[in-house]
Amino acid sequence: MSQPVVASLVAALPMPAVAIGPNERIETANEAAVRLFGEGIEGRHFITALRQPGLLDAIEGGLREGQRRQADVLTHDRGQDLVFRATVAPAQLREGALQGRGVLVILEDVTPMEKAGQMRRDFVANVSHELRTPLTALMGFIETLKGPAREDPQARERFLGIMEAEAGRMNRLVGDLLSLSRVEADERMRPAERVALGGLLRSCLNGLAPLAAEAGVTLVDALPAGEDGPEIPGDPDQLRQVFGNLVENAIKYGGRGCEVRLSMDPPAYEPRLRATGVCVRVSDTGPGISEIHLPRLTERFYRVDNHRSREMGGTGLGLAIVKHIVNRHRGRLRIESAPSAGSTFSVVLPVD
Ligand code: ADP
Repeated sequence: MSQPVVASLVAALPMPAVAIGPNERIETANEAAVRLFGEGIEGRHFITALRQPGLLDAIEGGLREGQRRQADVLTHDRGQDLVFRATVAPAQLREGALQGRGVLVILEDVTPMEKAGQMRRDFVANVSHELRTPLTALMGFIETLKGPAREDPQARERFLGIMEAEAGRMNRLVGDLLSLSRVEADERMRPAERVALGGLLRSCLNGLAPLAAEAGVTLVDALPAGEDGPEIPGDPDQLRQVFGNLVENAIKYGGRGCEVRLSMDPPAYEPRLRATGVCVRVSDTGPGISEIHLPRLTERFYRVDNHRSREMGGTGLGLAIVKHIVNRHRGRLRIESAPSAGSTFSVVLPVD
């Protein structure tokens, strides 16, 4: 193969690629490689041009032993960490057995894969941690009931009560994990059914009236009176889960004496959807949330106050589920809140 042919092959590759000759100098580098390693690398010795220890070892091995090697290259671009997987392949760059033997280095951007792997590992670690806490408590109480508290009916009652609460927490966590995985699985598939949103919201509110009464919270029905509509494309169970979660959070975190209001605007053009949509708002007069937490609230297991969330029986998954369901409905979720000014969670859903 002649040099111009190698150069045009390297130039045609969509990922960073360089060819290194038997004299250990870079013979040709494509545009993507120049973006990655900097201008003027052609003609330079590969050690001074590429400067990544793992990659240099792989190239040296490739040149010396004529074997295929791999190495990961870590770099950053505009504040973002990137991972490239480099394949170093021996290549006959010119005629002549020895004089022509060099290597081709091709780099594949594996950042999204690495990120997904990291997210999966974090998620498994989080779930294990969340399950371990109630499980440890349960095991401790079983031990106590088998031993010291065996003949103490009062202690037994109290411990069984706590065990019930801890088992309930595990049950809610597993239920929320299953919901989350179901919603994620069909997030691409928009619901085909049509739902009367007004009626669904009213029944959600009625269902939560006992919880509000018990918590000393006033629920205000500010929905258009006597209307069941508008009809929108939606999955009724999932929409019930969205508004159930939002109203329940408002009750839980609003606290005694607070007011929780559910309202809905008539369908109108929604710039956020670039289509006609209906906006539903759940607002509370509770303690509010400081601005730094707002962008992270819908992350799995993100809580403003860990202790309070656990005390309230929270799993830390409620808003993550809400976000995925709203996405599936091609809607938008917006959270507005400030310390001591209450919170408003608004959901905009397309009507067609
Ligand atoms: P949790 O199971 O902890 O309630 P969520 O995902 O539903 O999990 O909510 C995440 C966090 O957002 C909560 O732990 C809480 O700190 C905060 N939060 C949610 N809704 C409200 C609200 N209405 N007022 C104040 N804080 C809230």
